Amino acid sequence: MFGFGRGRRRRALLETPLPDDRRARMHEVAPLTKRLPAALRARHEGIVQVLLAEKRFEGAGGLEVTEDMRLAIAGQAALLQLRAGADYYPGLHSIVVYPEAFVVAHERPDDDGLVHLDEDELSGESWGHGAVVLAWDDVHRESKRRDGYNVVLHEFAHQLDDQTGEGDGTPVLPDRDLAARWRTAFQAAFEEHARRLKRRREVLFDEDAAESPAEFFATAVELFFEYPREMKREFGAVYTVMSAWLELDPAGDATLPG
Ligand SMILES: [Zn+2]
Repeated sequence: MFGFGRGRRRRALLETPLPDDRRARMHEVAPLTKRLPAALRARHEGIVQVLLAEKRFEGAGGLEVTEDMRLAIAGQAALLQLRAGADYYPGLHSIVVYPEAFVVAHERPDDDGLVHLDEDELSGESWGHGAVVLAWDDVHRESKRRDGYNVVLHEFAHQLDDQTGEGDGTPVLPDRDLAARWRTAFQAAFEEHARRLKRRREVLFDEDAAESPAEFFATAVELFFEYPREMKREFGAVYTVMSAWLELDPAGDATLPG
């Protein structure tokens, strides 16, 4: 019964456009959403409505979550759910928002087996089980700037990657052919990126992307939206498989024109 009721509620949400004032705010705080082609806008707004209704937005560190925050986060997270068969981050329950970078303690074992507590200052983190944590000052700044960094896209990309249970840089893909092409393209690009870093060449991906295939993938999602033409030119095979997966072509003329 629950599933049935939820399905019906979801269908209604998917068909509900945002009120004009909220749409204007979303375009203001998350300009990427304004660049969607007209044909995709209604679907995008429906997905935003689903995320706003189904996910819990929680303030932390004294922050009170505002409408602008919810729209900036849901608006950009919804860009990754326009594809057929999208399931709106089923494992994700909470989006926790801090006012600014937050400190997270990680245990790090050293070579002698001693465990040290490292403290990292982060602007975003995706927890495999149910939560994305974001720093609003970074979300606000990075959503408006077109500089290859976008903490919302990055952390929600990790959510999609973790949905497979692997967190290995390959999200759930619609078919085996795309999965095979995906692995080949990403493997080659990951190695090429490491080579360029080593030779101190100018790089499109940043140094953190070389850390693991999962980080490389999350960064690729940021670049796909923020620097699509550069990505298509330098890492064409990766751009092609991502375009097939997300069903978007931001480097083309019809979709997300820069
Ligand atoms: Zn990451």
